[in-house]
Amino acid sequence: MIIDGKKIAAELRAELKERINELKSKYHKVPGLTVILVGEDPPSKIYVRNKEKSAIEVGINSEVIRYPDDIEEKVILNKIKELNSNDKVSGILVQLPLPKHIDKRKVIETILPNKDVDGFHPMNVGNLSSGYDSSIPCTPLGCYLLLKKVEKNLNGKHAVIIGRSNLNGKPMAQLLLKENCTVTITHSKTKDLKAECKRADIIVAAVGRPKLVKADWVKKDAIVIDVGINKTNFGLVGDVDFDEVAKVAKAITPVPGGIGPMTIACLLSNTIECFKKIRSN
Ligand code: NAP
Repeated sequence: MIIDGKKIAAELRAELKERINELKSKYHKVPGLTVILVGEDPPSKIYVRNKEKSAIEVGINSEVIRYPDDIEEKVILNKIKELNSNDKVSGILVQLPLPKHIDKRKVIETILPNKDVDGFHPMNVGNLSSGYDSSIPCTPLGCYLLLKKVEKNLNGKHAVIIGRSNLNGKPMAQLLLKENCTVTITHSKTKDLKAECKRADIIVAAVGRPKLVKADWVKKDAIVIDVGINKTNFGLVGDVDFDEVAKVAKAITPVPGGIGPMTIACLLSNTIECFKKIRSN
């Protein structure tokens, strides 16, 4: 089974559009998302354009603030503070990566946790790992929603996550622990990655190495979620050798058309959640 992230994301966006209409009737306001983009990084510009397009499509007020590469850190921090107190802004996202002279941590920690649509603020990270309500990083949330489409009950499943980034691997592990999975997190120093993967009912690959995961690493009937986006001479490929692994796996996400569209849909969903949180406080 190929998990059609594009289709599932479109269904999610349609649901979100309805939810926004309901919020509009109830509050006479719609959620607002502000994205800060620094510099000219081509992939970042594409991501931001896609985020803006999708936000507008579902009825979110979308704004992109663009700064040149050499912008001073304090300008960004002051802008975030201004957005924090702007009632029209429900969610704030600072597109990463940032230029080296800007302290990413300071930027993330300046965003009000209730407006942190990326779920990167330490308060949201802590809440997620404590099992409390929190903003959940968009890509792992997208992986989780796709997994649940394939398998409602993840109780007792052995999940192997490849990659331990704050963006993907670690929050993914928290989400799967909450679902009562037995979770193994692997990384570049893991001794025998193939053996770890071979034991998995669920593999989540978030590495950034083209076609790292081979068919003989995958147990028959495992579910394989491919987060990787790697530009190669043959086009975009994931971290999984899709053609070969698809022959053994029970279900697998393609690249492109798997996690990518879900990440954006989850960003929109997080913006709505932030809008509701601000109103319920
Ligand atoms: P990252 O911060 O670079 O982390 C990569 C992780 O993979 C690290 O934990 C690293 O281990 C581990 N790793 C590297 N080589 C390995 C190997 N040979 N064997 C096992 N583990 C290895 O990357 P990221 O931000 O999490 O992103 C991962 C991938 O997802 C990238 O391709 C990125 O483009 C993609 N991505 C996709 C989306 C989407 O919407 N689909 C969103 C975000 C990211 P160490 O910790 O030991 O260094």
